[in-house]
Amino acid sequence: MKIVVDQVKCQNHGLCAISAPANFALDTDGKLQYHESFNEENIDDIEDAVDSCPLQAITLSRDAA
Ligand code: SF4
Repeated sequence: MKIVVDQVKCQNHGLCAISAPANFALDTDGKLQYHESFNEENIDDIEDAVDSCPLQAITLSRDAA
């Protein structure tokens, strides 16, 4: 499973970085950076991030190896 952020929808609010700071962060330019892969123990935080995104830009893809 991997994290996918729709870069067209994302407006770099950073709410996901508050919910799941291990996986999402805003860089010094205020642009979202994230890790596609994640540790299963962070799944609750990541699901919170998915829910917190006002633009519904974050999805979890089960296609990843
Ligand atoms: S909360 Fe959504 S819109 Fe905001 S930075 Fe994260 S993915 Fe982008």
